[in-house]
Amino acid sequence: MERYLKQLPLELQGIILRAQEISGRLDYKAYLVGGFVRDLILGVPNFDVDIVVEGEGLKFAEELCKVLAGKLTRHRRFGTATVVTHDKLKIDLASARKETYSYPGALPVVSPGNIEDDLFRRDFTINAMAISISYADFGRFVDLFNGRDDLAHKRIRVLHDLSFMDDPTRILRAIRFEQRYGLKIEPHTYRLLTRALKCNALEKVDKQRIRDEVILALKEKEPIKYIRRINRLIGFSFINPGLKKLKRHSFLHLKAAEKEIAWFRNKFVRKRTLDAWLIYLMVILDKLNKREINLVCKRFAFRAGEAKRIICYKSIFKDIDKQLNKKNILPSRIYRLLEPLSYEVIILIKATTDKERVKKHIADFLNIYNGIRLYVTGEDLKNLGIEPSPYFKDILAKTLYAKIDYGLAGKEDELAFIRKFIKKNKRTLG
Ligand code: ATP
Repeated sequence: MERYLKQLPLELQGIILRAQEISGRLDYKAYLVGGFVRDLILGVPNFDVDIVVEGEGLKFAEELCKVLAGKLTRHRRFGTATVVTHDKLKIDLASARKETYSYPGALPVVSPGNIEDDLFRRDFTINAMAISISYADFGRFVDLFNGRDDLAHKRIRVLHDLSFMDDPTRILRAIRFEQRYGLKIEPHTYRLLTRALKCNALEKVDKQRIRDEVILALKEKEPIKYIRRINRLIGFSFINPGLKKLKRHSFLHLKAAEKEIAWFRNKFVRKRTLDAWLIYLMVILDKLNKREINLVCKRFAFRAGEAKRIICYKSIFKDIDKQLNKKNILPSRIYRLLEPLSYEVIILIKATTDKERVKKHIADFLNIYNGIRLYVTGEDLKNLGIEPSPYFKDILAKTLYAKIDYGLAGKEDELAFIRKFIKKNKRTLG
């Protein structure tokens, strides 16, 4: 395995050598494990280093953090820690441990163990390989379950028959790795998976763990592949009983969303990055009504900002679609309709509307109106003798709308508009 390690980028090799020094100093055996080893063998770049030590993981992490001058986050509840270097490389550290499950979907009971125990608690053979980085046997490959062979034959295999019952989130993980690397769930594992599904295993898991897995899947490079596979194998009733299987119509929307997301990312590299996963989720949930979507957001404990965007699409689509389809609509009206919405919601409306005019108005908003700014400021209004008040905001908004509609050219034009506006308003008020 030394050959593989020598092919790693130098900054990763440096981290491994530092970890080796610490393993020697503390007299702990240390191993690279999990996805890092899998990707090393596959030749897939992976900058998330995963290290397990036979000793105190937290102590090891503190020492490594010192020598790398990184940032340490301790996850005391799990006895693990993460070090992030200033180059943003991430190193997860943990003590080798044994895990037992009291019932399906429960959090495991954890006790100290050695590397063999630690590998045995893992999900699939391809994720259960380790490479020693200790001085005594640097590069020794630990592959108790023939993960390398499974990788070579493109197979996903669990380590034991109760694996999916112990932790049903592995059902979603299996599909994720299968789709990501073009693997196949091998027949026995597939049987165990379907058996677990028949026992409604996914319904027994903590909802937040399911949520995290779904988000990871929707963040994959080609999420629609994953959604299609889940749909065929399981359906989405594990999110809400009303969802069951997605139909062709949903896949058309997913495809359209994918296209619009690519368009947005290409065109607006400097705008806020899009949470594309949220858009895909909105399509998956679209069959539900507002109340049900609200309930899903609560049960799965989505963050407030995420829930707000998810619900917003359902609440406003019809109205915005109708308003934006009006003939001769003013650009400032388009601005006012779309400006309060998140980019995720706007992109999904653009993807799902069947009206070319709506698509065009949204593109105009993103291309032109959304970037228009005023030169005048509150200071300029004060200089015109206007006292700071809510009226201030109103004047600035009206000026912006005028600029969007009639293209006020520079600061002088804007000031001229404001003077006229104040005069007219005084007249109407007086
Ligand atoms: P990714 O490339 O998506 O990060 P990964 O394999 O590194 O993949 P992580 O979720 O970071 O995935 O987990 C790291 C390792 O921890 C996995 O490779 C696996 O060995 C183990 N693991 C993670 N989740 C589970 C689980 N639910 N059950 C058993 N082992 C798990």
